Amino acid sequence: MTTLEELLRDAHRVVAFTGAGVSTESGIPDFRSPGGLWSRYDPTRFTFSRYVASPETRAEAWDMRRAFFAHPVHPNAAHRALARLEAAGRSAGVITQNIDGLHQAAGSRKVVEIHGTAREVICIGSAPKHGVPDGCGWTAPHTWAFDRLDAGDPDPRCPACGGLVKSSTVLFEQVLPQDAIAEAYALAEQADVLVAVGSSLQVYPAAELPLVAFRAGARLAIVNDESTPLDDLATVVVHGKAGPVLDAAASTVLGG
Ligand code: NAD
Repeated sequence: MTTLEELLRDAHRVVAFTGAGVSTESGIPDFRSPGGLWSRYDPTRFTFSRYVASPETRAEAWDMRRAFFAHPVHPNAAHRALARLEAAGRSAGVITQNIDGLHQAAGSRKVVEIHGTAREVICIGSAPKHGVPDGCGWTAPHTWAFDRLDAGDPDPRCPACGGLVKSSTVLFEQVLPQDAIAEAYALAEQADVLVAVGSSLQVYPAAELPLVAFRAGARLAIVNDESTPLDDLATVVVHGKAGPVLDAAASTVLGG
């Protein structure tokens, strides 16, 4: 039986595909964790069309974003192990569903964020339709919006064109950012090993990416604390916590 260490040792272009589970050890809950942020906010209620139509939904979305950043969060051993593999020339990068920026904070340089980032806000225009932002191109760090809210503006507008402002993340109904998706497909197709970490592999189209790599000839490794629908296709499945599992594997492969 092949181990994760063996699979990584023999690989030259490891690509990681990460979900919310890679960040739970940093204190950011996934959707399912009891008592987490998502038990207070139902993310399925935040559709793109509701966000555009309703100032109340926008106010609630800003509340949720503030709660997301309420406590300082830091990369954990899993983020750091993936950054070490990249720095050693073993990994071609990370495709992430996460919006928390922790891969970059850990030192990963090639990070494709297919669901956007909570660390930035963007103009989406005055009346965007069909789940597609239609802004003027203005962006700012997320703290810009928090400063506006603190200054008593409940519904911050784009300072350049007056359009609606939104966190640079992907809401339900929203079309995924096409350049990030193209980049993610290209990266997945180049992988000789794709390691899926902390993802239920149930959120589509994101979960298609490990299959893209598999069909292009990559071997799959799955590191998750529960079973996933792709376990049967994987060369290696490790049921455990992402931090200790990846830390041990990277240390064995890289020596140290
Ligand atoms: P998901 O579908 O990616 O599932 C998370 C998986 O990770 C689950 O199978 C869970 O059992 C597993 N897991 C949790 N902690 C783990 C650990 N320490 N080690 C190994 N496995 C672990 O994620 P979701 O919660 O259903 O969220 C779906 C989408 O919501 C994500 O794709 C993302 O866009 C967004 N989201 C992002 C963040 C973030 O940025 N940190 C957090 C929550 C949700």
